[in-house]
Amino acid sequence: MSVVVIGGGPAGLMAAETLAAAGRKVTVYERMATPGRKLLIAGRGGLNLTHSEPIEHFLARYGEAASWLRPILEAFPPSALIAWAEGLGQPTFVGSSGRVFPKSLKASPLLRAWLARLAGLGVELRTRHDWRGWNERGNLIFAVDGKEIEIARPAATVLALGGASWPKLGSTGDWANILSAQGVAVTRLRPSNCGFRAAWSPAFRERFSGSPLKPAVFSFGQQRVRGEAVITASGIEGGAVYALSAALRDAIESKGEAMLEIDLSPDAALDRLCAKLDRPARGQSFSTFLRKSARLSPVAINLLREAHAELAREPAALAGQIKAVRIPLLGTGPIERAISTAGGVSRSAVDARLGLRTLPDVFVAGEMLDWEAPTGGYLLQASLATGAAAAKAILTA
Ligand SMILES: Cc1cc2nc3c(=O)[nH]c(=O)nc-3n(C[C@H](O)[C@H](O)[C@H](O)COP(=O)(O)OP(=O)(O)OC[C@H]3O[C@@H](n4cnc5c(N)ncnc54)[C@H](O)[C@@H]3O)c2cc1C
Repeated sequence: MSVVVIGGGPAGLMAAETLAAAGRKVTVYERMATPGRKLLIAGRGGLNLTHSEPIEHFLARYGEAASWLRPILEAFPPSALIAWAEGLGQPTFVGSSGRVFPKSLKASPLLRAWLARLAGLGVELRTRHDWRGWNERGNLIFAVDGKEIEIARPAATVLALGGASWPKLGSTGDWANILSAQGVAVTRLRPSNCGFRAAWSPAFRERFSGSPLKPAVFSFGQQRVRGEAVITASGIEGGAVYALSAALRDAIESKGEAMLEIDLSPDAALDRLCAKLDRPARGQSFSTFLRKSARLSPVAINLLREAHAELAREPAALAGQIKAVRIPLLGTGPIERAISTAGGVSRSAVDARLGLRTLPDVFVAGEMLDWEAPTGGYLLQASLATGAAAAKAILTA
């Protein structure tokens, strides 16, 4: 039985590997000139493959989707991913935050070894094949070199078309219209692990776009994240903001605005900061006084001024302002710049084997399914695990 996999990202390639290793004839169709472009970009940040935390904590990162992802992730857990990477000649290590990386800190050697393994298994890779849906005969249609070609409907098809972030890498989310037209429920695609818009003054924007803000503690609701963010021309982005992004995004969607709170002096308790500020300025400008006594960077001092029209002169009140800078966030940054995508093929549209209920010979894997998770290796882990699960479902059908 031959199987078609559409989408040559981590999910599609893992589905192809699992099927071919079991002896199936597999063809992978990819619209770009080469597969795995997003995986390669992920490698620029060191390629965080997965996370070493206990499995229950790990599963909790997927929020509501954890209930249905659990069996899939238990069947292909972080240990399986690490063994797989090591089998491709990429030994891994656990970083100080518990995140797991290949020792090379790159995706290219892993992808190269993976593609060689797939070729050895007989997987055929057809690039520059842009899938456009099914025709009236039920066959697959692709745009190739400006022409439309038809490929006979295979016994099983795996769709692994990715989300809608970084569309120039190939995943544009345009599959949502094709699947909706087939009666598949698709939850609106939204940015996840994304930046946000804030109403900076022109002077602040001009001077501090691109400036890192660290160390700081970023809070929203009950969530607190210590880390780093970057001021952008339109707002704020970076690891610590990404970690809060699902809650911030949902709050903005329901209330129109979300208040991000930033502690600019996270290493000093309030009373200690207050004591540091309780000294004469001795002819210094107020900015110099803040820089020297509270050790605030220029960007932190000016962020403080953005948030407070008047800075308090009384030490306790000033310390309070420094430890709780409130920035109203007005919207998410564009999905094109987000790390990942929320929404996608709805859980109700697939069965437990990731087969589409309305198209039983079609399986779905990877980021195009409706789950989201923070950065930390959770994205690749679930993409690979769902790719393996869709393939196993086909093998046992
Ligand atoms: C900057 C950045 C850094 C990241 N870093 C990490 C990290 O360190 N750790 C981590 O866990 N995750 C990371 N991610 C996220 C991770 O890369 C993705 O979650 C993962 O690649 C999703 O895999 P996928 O196979 O589902 O989709 P994709 O990797 O998006 O692959 C989908 C493929 O389908 C192809 N395709 C789409 N539509 C069609 C069509 N109509 N016809 C044919 N082909 C089509 C696309 O060209 C693409 O090759 C990062 C993402 C970004 C943008």
